[in-house]
Amino acid sequence: MITERIRRNVPLKEYTTFKIGGLAKYFLEAKNKEELMAGIQWAKQQGLPFFILGGGSNLLISDEGFDGLVLRISSDGFQFDGERLKVEAGANLSLVVNECLKKRLSGLEWASGIPKITVGGAVYGNAGAFGVTCADMIESVELLDTDTMTIKTISFEECQFDYKESIFKKNKNLIILSVVFRLEAKAAEEIEKEIKRALFYRREHHSSEPSAGSVFKNPFQIPAGELIENCGLKGKRIGNAQISLKHANFIVNLGEAKAQDVKNLIDLAKKEVQNKFNILLEEEVQYLGF
Ligand SMILES: Cc1cc2nc3c(=O)[nH]c(=O)nc-3n(C[C@H](O)[C@H](O)[C@H](O)COP(=O)(O)OP(=O)(O)OC[C@H]3O[C@@H](n4cnc5c(N)ncnc54)[C@H](O)[C@@H]3O)c2cc1C
Repeated sequence: MITERIRRNVPLKEYTTFKIGGLAKYFLEAKNKEELMAGIQWAKQQGLPFFILGGGSNLLISDEGFDGLVLRISSDGFQFDGERLKVEAGANLSLVVNECLKKRLSGLEWASGIPKITVGGAVYGNAGAFGVTCADMIESVELLDTDTMTIKTISFEECQFDYKESIFKKNKNLIILSVVFRLEAKAAEEIEKEIKRALFYRREHHSSEPSAGSVFKNPFQIPAGELIENCGLKGKRIGNAQISLKHANFIVNLGEAKAQDVKNLIDLAKKEVQNKFNILLEEEVQYLGF
């Protein structure tokens, strides 16, 4: 019975890299697609909204939490077939890179060192770094359409990838179940070099305090961090949330920060950048419960 696995009043801050967020009224850790579908059916029967959670590394969850069912996808199986890798949505992409290294397969090294990033979350927002995006390696995606409760596989073209965009972001009824990546055979030394480069870059440039990575998309490829810094906002603090001193497109939690403090900093950065540069920043971070 799926109802026995559904927990009540679960603190969501434990499930986000920001370490911020109120309670989920209901919470289910879905270990496979059967559990995921059963959870969604249950939420529909109860007339409750539901939300899909990956690693929580790009999420700002409100202090009030979520008055519905949060489904955390934790299915993380993977299978290599030549240069193809089929991997389930809940797999940690940063760890998948190590499995690829063992097989001498290249393409996902950019994800090394990103905490908690799951395959599902990465595909949803077409994550990437160093000029490479998730979309570059994707052959197909298996999805669940929650409107019809049917499972199907769509091609790379049908995913409608763009900068930080995909069909999944535009259609919340489509849930990523698994992905087929097409990788490239390379020497282990070359792959290791790319992994080290990604890890070194993140150590040097990213904040060590809890965050959700980049808050804003880069408009017209001008780094949002540069715009925010030029408004004099680096280090700006509201409550215990701060625009990172290391990277102005990161907001960090200095300890028990409120979601509202982060939201106020986001609104402030948008307003100042709009006033000074006439550019409207758009959030990369996703909201829940606002
Ligand atoms: C220190 C740090 C560094 C980062 N560096 C980078 C970087 O270099 N490049 C980059 O692109 N990002 C970066 N990020 C941001 C983040 O890791 C990515 O956006 C990541 O893809 C989010 O994945 P997630 O599993 O954590 O998704 P979550 O944060 O859990 O969810 C994000 C969105 O995806 C949706 N979602 C999750 N899984 C599914 C699914 N299976 N089906 C449908 N929708 C789903 C959720 O509903 C939500 O709307 C960084 C974050 C941190 C904390």
